[in-house]
Amino acid sequence: MARLARAGHSSSRPKAVAVVNRLAEMFPGATTELHYRNAFELLVATILSAQSTDARVNSVTPTLFARFPDAGALASADGAELESLIRPTGFFRAKSRSLQGMAAQLVERFGGEVPGTLDALVSLPGVGRKTANVVLGHAFGVPGLPVDRHVLRVATRIGLASGRTPEAVEAQLCRALPARLWTLASDCLILHGRRVCRPKPLCAKCPIQSACAYYSTATAMSRTTISRPRRSAHRR
Ligand code: SF4
Repeated sequence: MARLARAGHSSSRPKAVAVVNRLAEMFPGATTELHYRNAFELLVATILSAQSTDARVNSVTPTLFARFPDAGALASADGAELESLIRPTGFFRAKSRSLQGMAAQLVERFGGEVPGTLDALVSLPGVGRKTANVVLGHAFGVPGLPVDRHVLRVATRIGLASGRTPEAVEAQLCRALPARLWTLASDCLILHGRRVCRPKPLCAKCPIQSACAYYSTATAMSRTTISRPRRSAHRR
C-alpha cells in the first residue's frame, strides 16, 4: 500500500520513466490508432471513439471526412445524414449533436480552426480532457496525457498512480513523468492495456512484471497460500 500511496510523487519518477521506456520498446512507434490527416479530423475521430473502438471509428471516417471535410461543412450538415454515417460507432444521436455543436463553435469562435490549448478545447461541446489531450499531443505536439479506461487500469495496477478517476490519474502520471513523455506514456499504456494488461491480465507474457505492484502482490499471495500449512479437517 505504501507503494501506491507514493504514486505520482517525484520519488517514483525513475520507475515511471523506466516503465514507459520499456513499453515504448515493446510498442515501437506507439501512437493513436485513429486515422486522421489534421487536427480537425483527429478531434472528430476522438469524439466518435467514445464507447467505441478505433477500428469502428476508422471504418466510418473516410466517408465522413470526404462528405464533411471541415468545421463549416460539419456545422451545416444534415442531422439525419450525419447520424447515418456515424451510426456504427454507437451513441450516434448524442455524438451527432456533439460534432455539430463542436463544429459550430469552431466556426463562431475560432475561425473554423481547432484551437491548440487545453482550455479552449475543453470549452467545445463533447470535448473533455481526454479528447483535448489526444488532440494536443498528436496534432499539435503539445504534451498531453489522455487517460482512458486502459490507462486508468494499467497505471494503477503497475503502481504508477493510485487515483480512482481519470483526472486524478492524469495528475499523478504527469507528476511522475517529464512532459516530453506524457503523450508517449498514454499511447503505450493504452496499447499495453489492449494487448497484454487486459481486464484479465496476461502477466505471464508481460515484460514489466518486476516493476508491477499488482504482479508482486499476486505473487506474494500465491506464495503465502502455497506455504501455509493446511488445517486438519478432523481437528478435535
Ligand atoms: S505484470 Fe500483469 S498486471 Fe502487471 S502490467 Fe504486466 S500484465 Fe499488467
